[in-house]
Amino acid sequence: MTERTFSIIKPDATERNLTGKINAVIEDAGLRIVAQRRVRLSQAQAEKFYEIHKERPFFGELVSTMTSAPVVVQVLEGDNAVARYREVMGATNPDNAAEGTIRKLFAKNVGENSVHGSDSLDNAKIEIAQFFTDADIVG
Ligand code: ATP
Ligand code: MG
Repeated sequence: MTERTFSIIKPDATERNLTGKINAVIEDAGLRIVAQRRVRLSQAQAEKFYEIHKERPFFGELVSTMTSAPVVVQVLEGDNAVARYREVMGATNPDNAAEGTIRKLFAKNVGENSVHGSDSLDNAKIEIAQFFTDADIVG
């Protein structure tokens, strides 16, 4: 089934000029980038985006790294896009990520792991709506 998922190329990756290399991995995996924008997240935007993790010990660090430099927010479209992009990203901790995945190729550590991808179709819809309107997405 054709789906849309939400992706963020995180500050550790934009700072190292890896946007194009990461987009190449995404496109080679058969996912189409149907919306994309470079933005600097505010503290409030980052806190809202990662609200589900607010009780976790790493929450403060997560918000400060996500606001430390620009990010690239994206909508990806393709067959089973939510699960497919999770595969393409690899495990949260790059030490556990499979060969060829974005996190294995580029992530620095578990906190600076280069990309975010939605973990369910429901969350993808919620996350896309935080950054894009329907008119921004050209499928
Ligand atoms: P994301 O939601 O960013 O796609 P994920 O779904 O693989 O990543 P989550 O468990 O949702 O992983 O964690 C959200 C983010 O919080 C991780 O991507 C990472 O940047 C950060 N994080 C997770 N665990 C740790 C940790 N133990 N120490 C530091 N940061 C962490
Ligand atoms: Mg997650």
